[in-house]
Amino acid sequence: MKQYLKVDPWCIIDEGFDVNNVKASESIFSLGNGKMGQRANFEEQYSGFTLPGNYFAGIFYPDKTKVGWWKNGYPEYFGKMINAVNWIGIDIFIEDEALDIAKCKLSEFRRVLNMREGSLSRSFYAELNSGKIIYVHTKRFISISDTTVAVISYEITPINFSGTITFIPYIDGDVMNSDSNYNEKFWSEVEKVSHDGMSVLHLKTKKLDFHVCSGMKNSFYNGKKKLNTNAELISNEKYVGEKYIINARQDEQISIVKYVTNITSLDFETGLMTKQVLNHLTKIEKDGFDQLFEEHKKAWELKWEKSDIIIEGDDSAQQGIRFNIFQLNQTYTGDDARLNIGPKGFTGEKYGGSTYWDTEAFCFPFYLNTADQKVARNLLIYRYNHLPKAIENATKLGFKNGAALYPMVTINGEECHNEWEITFEEIHRNGAMAYAIYNYIKHTADDKYLAEFGLEVLIALSRFWSQRATFSDVKKKYVILGVTGPNEYENNVNNNWYTNFMASWTLKFTLEVIEIVKAKYLNEYKKLIKKVNLNLSDEISKWKEISENIFFQKIDGTNIFIQQEGYLDKEQINVSDIPENERPINQNWSWDRILRSVFIKQADVLQGMYFFINDFPVDVIRENYEFYEPKTVHESSLSPCIHSVIASHIGELDRAYELYLRTSRLDLDDYNNEVDEGLHITSMAGTWLSIVEGFARKRIINGLLSFDPQIPLKWNSYSFKIQYRRHLMEIIVQKEDVKIWNHHEEPIEILLFGSPFTIGAKSMLHYQKNKEHS
Ligand code: BGC
Repeated sequence: MKQYLKVDPWCIIDEGFDVNNVKASESIFSLGNGKMGQRANFEEQYSGFTLPGNYFAGIFYPDKTKVGWWKNGYPEYFGKMINAVNWIGIDIFIEDEALDIAKCKLSEFRRVLNMREGSLSRSFYAELNSGKIIYVHTKRFISISDTTVAVISYEITPINFSGTITFIPYIDGDVMNSDSNYNEKFWSEVEKVSHDGMSVLHLKTKKLDFHVCSGMKNSFYNGKKKLNTNAELISNEKYVGEKYIINARQDEQISIVKYVTNITSLDFETGLMTKQVLNHLTKIEKDGFDQLFEEHKKAWELKWEKSDIIIEGDDSAQQGIRFNIFQLNQTYTGDDARLNIGPKGFTGEKYGGSTYWDTEAFCFPFYLNTADQKVARNLLIYRYNHLPKAIENATKLGFKNGAALYPMVTINGEECHNEWEITFEEIHRNGAMAYAIYNYIKHTADDKYLAEFGLEVLIALSRFWSQRATFSDVKKKYVILGVTGPNEYENNVNNNWYTNFMASWTLKFTLEVIEIVKAKYLNEYKKLIKKVNLNLSDEISKWKEISENIFFQKIDGTNIFIQQEGYLDKEQINVSDIPENERPINQNWSWDRILRSVFIKQADVLQGMYFFINDFPVDVIRENYEFYEPKTVHESSLSPCIHSVIASHIGELDRAYELYLRTSRLDLDDYNNEVDEGLHITSMAGTWLSIVEGFARKRIINGLLSFDPQIPLKWNSYSFKIQYRRHLMEIIVQKEDVKIWNHHEEPIEILLFGSPFTIGAKSMLHYQKNKEHS
């Protein structure tokens, strides 16, 4: 754990330069707009340790698989979101000496990520070896109103000299992934063009032919006065630079504004890209920094309007939740169903920028509640579009008849994970796919989706489960053998409760959806049955039979579901029995010891209870929580949030708050000492869950929106908005009262503390604890 950032409700502030924090700050101060994103590398040279990172959503490379022992069924490649062109670079020379942050004396170093307006700025004094001192102020943003645009303003003021300052803004495509399997470089040059004061670099990937075209136009100013400048062009393999030498006087501020346009072949025709970049650069330079920034700020204002959570009385918690919301909004905007959310977003290379079950199980509710319906729908469509590949994947493993196994890790629908215990065994991910559809329908009532897309996915999932479950003559039940549950600290187990539960539930849900679609959308239903060749009598009755007869185990005399067979044979000790210096166990124990231990990496049984929190009596949830929480080491960032929601549900508010803190400031306080590798984007959605579904206990009960809010002791109030069906709702929770706004022009019926209320159009319900409501 490391706490070097200042607490502020809207900004992340780093003051004073510490070389040991450079990589961590590169992650934390990242910027993105859903289409592109980057680590917060410096514009000028930095010869210290750094992890350069610029990424474009959906642009990937099939990096040939590298494993120790090959197993049939492993994927041939890992489709990785790749490190792409560095478009921020500006080399600076003071007279002949390079400005290298690692080599000069810095003072008053300050870096600010302004989350309200989506900008990153830096300021510092640098004394070079020559004794010359400059003051530097930079500001950059990646526009979310025009997602092809980014702008950097870089100002230098000579403090104790007059002389020449050389600026070399450049675009450099000669980059590589630090996690490339065979040290391969993934990019080759298509062309570079310099025209009318603009430079463009057009690259393509060596395989799959993805193109990225990146261009810059640079303007210079002395104070506010625009300078006429001439550049010397520098052209290298996969590199374009422009060298400007400016005479600067002591105390006069010289600045460069670097306008950048980046486009990819996902959205543009490759033959026209260079021309389009040149045209767009001309336009944005005319618009100017201020106008572009204004438009960008307005777009952020709209995002915050819908997704902000305001916490009064605890700035650290406020900063934590805003940071999470900010990063989630930077990572995924939901405009394009080809894109998804990687566990590290655009902030690092770990996990290959690919999609995991994290999206459906953890991130989905955030976007469902805080953005337009189409955003969550696009997340579902992403998986719908991957259905043929999921069927191919299952077929490759020996399943038949259109059964689908969604990949554990993917970018284009193909499985990219290559450890047998996860690739082949962590099949519970199929359950999350069905659960997201269920969640979407429950929240939006858009059941047309089921007829158009959802049911087709559900049928393929049910076909998988019905083939994967086998009948045990001994148990006289259906069993699912050889799996890995969400707890990856156990492999090849039989009858993992979570997996069995999700399988049985998916089968039942599919049967329900068949009835809904048949009743409401008969034509679509008939077409679909024909398309997927569903055998209505045999298949459906098999699904019913399996779903009702899956094997589950409880500890005798209790309501505790046993995580998997054999779990109770392990030495039953608790996390509190592990010496502090042996934690985290994944960094201190052998893998063998971890596998044999009782310790649970992340919510497993409790993950299932969280999904269906209203379907279990509170006492049953409490019993399971009290049994499993002491055995859970929370060594996945996806774990504390789920336990926090459950702790809130059963009224353990203090523990819920403790777990919440662990998720909300996980990256800002670097709890796991790994923030330098990138942020935990998908677990950030879990933080949102801990407040909205945790403290506020938002549920949908029999089609009604329901709240049963509690407030952590330290907070004076908290409030948030959610989009529920057509209603924009605002919930304000204070110590003694709860206010619920219905911002829609139709009334809504809700449940609050278990009682029904109708809130009129554009009206507020004011509920005062211990008093009559008004
Ligand atoms: C977790 C998985 C998760 C993955 C990516 C792993 O550590 O155990 O559940 O999908 O990280 O976030």
